[in-house]
Amino acid sequence: MKDKILITTAIDYANDVIHIGHAYQKVLADCFARYYRILGKQVFFVTGTDEHGANIEKIANSNGKDIKDYVDYVSGEDQKQIDSLGVKYDRFIRTTDLDHKEVVNKIWKIIFDKGDIYKKSFTGLYCLSCESFKTGSEIEGDCCNIHKTLKLIEHKEENYFFKWSSYQKFLEEFFQKNKKFVLPQNKYNEMFNFLKSGIEDISISRQNIKWGIKVPRDETQVIYVWFDALINYYTAGIKTGFWDENTTIIHFLGKDNLRWHSLLWPAILKSADLKTPDIVYSHDFINIDGQKISKTLGNIIRPSELVEEFDVNSIRYFLLKRGPLYDDVDISKEKIKEVNNSDLANGLGNLIQRITKICEKISYQNKTPYPENFSEKVIEHFDNFRLDLCLEYIQEKITEENRFIEMQKLWTKEGEELIKNLDRCIINIRQIAFDLQPFMPDIAEKIKQRLGEKILFGEALFKRI
Ligand SMILES: [Zn+2]
Repeated sequence: MKDKILITTAIDYANDVIHIGHAYQKVLADCFARYYRILGKQVFFVTGTDEHGANIEKIANSNGKDIKDYVDYVSGEDQKQIDSLGVKYDRFIRTTDLDHKEVVNKIWKIIFDKGDIYKKSFTGLYCLSCESFKTGSEIEGDCCNIHKTLKLIEHKEENYFFKWSSYQKFLEEFFQKNKKFVLPQNKYNEMFNFLKSGIEDISISRQNIKWGIKVPRDETQVIYVWFDALINYYTAGIKTGFWDENTTIIHFLGKDNLRWHSLLWPAILKSADLKTPDIVYSHDFINIDGQKISKTLGNIIRPSELVEEFDVNSIRYFLLKRGPLYDDVDISKEKIKEVNNSDLANGLGNLIQRITKICEKISYQNKTPYPENFSEKVIEHFDNFRLDLCLEYIQEKITEENRFIEMQKLWTKEGEELIKNLDRCIINIRQIAFDLQPFMPDIAEKIKQRLGEKILFGEALFKRI
């Protein structure tokens, strides 16, 4: 990792307010951003909303709303949802932001003048929900492989195309050279195989849509929403000095967006002679009680609902421990409750109560300095993007300390022997708190307050539910 790090999440499509499925990605990216900040890196962390395109135009119109009013509302609600999770971003970017529109215009012109954009008439099978043309393995029966109940329509347009195919060789070499460009490994293989099957030029503008960024020098077309949206990362980075060779650029996104991010985005950047991202991390999906999260099933849960019911620390811990890092996972309120009670209330919470009670009784003090770095294991797991293993490791340490207090019957000990045992426990627990900072910043801070030179007994850190 370089000294400067740009961390991004996908920007969410402003057709509806985000749900718990989107929330995982924000917490994941936030955890990395916090980790790198603690390591002393300069971090710029961006999230936001993707606000153009035919679908948004349609939804706003069908609700009888002005389009801009509608996206203002959704974007504002998204921000509240993300804030409720304790996510600390540096910019909330919106594709309707003026500076973003200017950057998109500039990049279009550079690529056009280079000869990588041309106009042609095109007929293809189009998914109205994806807002994109589908070919080959993306088609299942009459539908696209994501929207299996929505029929593809035959669509003819004159569009501008990006010469994606000209970057076939560049991308193949790029993938060979950067074996960790796409993570996890199975996703890298999937994308590399797709690439090797051959990429075709792609339409990057739309006719008959008003809601979007107008194609420079051609008012009859708007820029395709994907082309516009991908550039948000560059807008946020370049405006703050986080898009250069001294910056490591990490994109977090869901597996449905991987093809655009890992294959189209580097080609656009290469065409414009700009730095390409370093890591594209794709995660899988969250299901609820065995079902896909969807409006039609009516099982949408907003992050703020869970935070209210369970507390933000408990939700962050649960998502980061059980989240869909490399496979879809099923969550339920029952499971959140279980993890809250076992790992947090009975595990960490109980440990802090027991140890501080013993310490306070004898006015024990500990003058050794507070730790200044993460445990080696924690660093190793962060390096491998395995936050699940990281929390597993920290949980083992908590269990070890609880067991130690139990085995030694610490509450029965006195004098020198008790002091010696407490010295050990306090040092270990302080390290646990340090390691927990990116995951549960408030809790880590509370422990730090209570385990200073003077040890303070107080209120339980977690509620048993
Ligand atoms: Zn689709």
